Amino acid sequence: MGRAYSTIAFDPAKCDGCGDCMTACAQAKTGTDDIARSRIQIYGREGAPDKTFELALCRQCADPKCVTVCPAGALNKDGTTGVIGWDASKCVDCLLCTVGCAYAGIALDETAGHVSKCDTCDGNPACVPACPHGALKYVTTANIYNEVGDWEDLFAPGLAGCQGCNTELLMRHTLRRVGPDTVLATPPGCVPGMGSVGFNGTTGTKVPVFHPLLTNTAAMLAGIKRQYKRVGRDVQALAIAGDGGASDVGFQSLSGAAERGEQMLFMVVDNEGYMNTGMQRSSCTPYGAWTSTTPVGEASHGKTQDAKNLPLIMVNHRCAYVATASTAYMEDLYDKLDKAIAASKTGFAYLHVYSPCTTGWRFPSNLNMEVARKAVETNFVMLWEYTPQDGLHFTKSVDDPLPVTDYLKAMGRFRHLSPEQVEHIQKKVVENQKFVERMTEHAHVG
Ligand code: SF4
Ligand code: SF4
Repeated sequence: MGRAYSTIAFDPAKCDGCGDCMTACAQAKTGTDDIARSRIQIYGREGAPDKTFELALCRQCADPKCVTVCPAGALNKDGTTGVIGWDASKCVDCLLCTVGCAYAGIALDETAGHVSKCDTCDGNPACVPACPHGALKYVTTANIYNEVGDWEDLFAPGLAGCQGCNTELLMRHTLRRVGPDTVLATPPGCVPGMGSVGFNGTTGTKVPVFHPLLTNTAAMLAGIKRQYKRVGRDVQALAIAGDGGASDVGFQSLSGAAERGEQMLFMVVDNEGYMNTGMQRSSCTPYGAWTSTTPVGEASHGKTQDAKNLPLIMVNHRCAYVATASTAYMEDLYDKLDKAIAASKTGFAYLHVYSPCTTGWRFPSNLNMEVARKAVETNFVMLWEYTPQDGLHFTKSVDDPLPVTDYLKAMGRFRHLSPEQVEHIQKKVVENQKFVERMTEHAHVG
């Protein structure tokens, strides 16, 4: 993963072709209202059933073809800002760059007699606020990608996860942060299922990985960690388990290791079910959800019990560190990984990450982050952390949450819900919020 740069994003569904962005650009860059001189151009798509518009604009590409084809060295990508700059003193007006760019992002300004292109107005684009419909957005990159982009990806490329799988994203980021001096345990679930433990004598990870039973992950990993310690090696013991392998049949070994204060980081990838074996319900599956063992039909309408709140149960083990996280809030996740790794040097660290499952939750793969974010914005999922010293506190408070329907409607697994079932879920969300809020006031245990 390389360095990420800010860019201007375009939503054709919101654009009505008014051209205000072009006028604003022409004014900012040429001091005229001549939209032919604007560096952003909006075109009506010919023959489209609905009138839609397309954008010609420099994307400030990571691998810019215009730079490559320019024979005069007049174009150059700034390594700090990511903006591709044009140097008038070097340009020989050959127009090869206009052919090289697939986005028509650099074009001849006939009045000026040479090419011109977007420079993002030094990070303050004139076109974006000029759009009355919000069709343009200046997307600034999250610093986290620039901070960690050069760290080694310790999972092999091409793992066999479902399209848009959040778990793969989580695995890659977690091992990237935890680093190579790690022993990984991953019980049956999506993580080994997509090939991290390997097939036919190969492994999908660049760290030692083993595949315990669903029942004994924490116990086995504790033994391995102790043996390494005995021979004088300080390795990071890391478990990545699904919610089924942690909250149900694997809970006894998880609870035992936490109670003994074994020095490890136990991460639960909570996709709210046994997703890789046929989408069966687990005790972390939410009320009302369709799964293959809580079907929807005349006689049943999804799961009839509320989800077990595993992270709160782990707080009651007085672990060295417990937190909930989401890949929709990556800075928060990395911060928690840092703290969990530090805590696992002295005791048991537990990280519970909500992991939307495109296949089992029944939503299109491109909506993964949207689903993850909506879970937090509705308080269906709350992000908090706990240490025995500081108690429990929210790391992202949502004081004015969206209605839970905003989250539920994004997924097919809740499509059948009756108004009464939705009401039940909303009531539980409020109840959970109040419960955790009370814990933030009283959970300091010293
Ligand atoms: S027009 Fe100028 S910037 Fe474009 S390829 Fe030719 S020399 Fe390079
Ligand atoms: S960012 Fe500035 S230069 Fe680029 S299209 Fe918008 S107004 Fe024009």
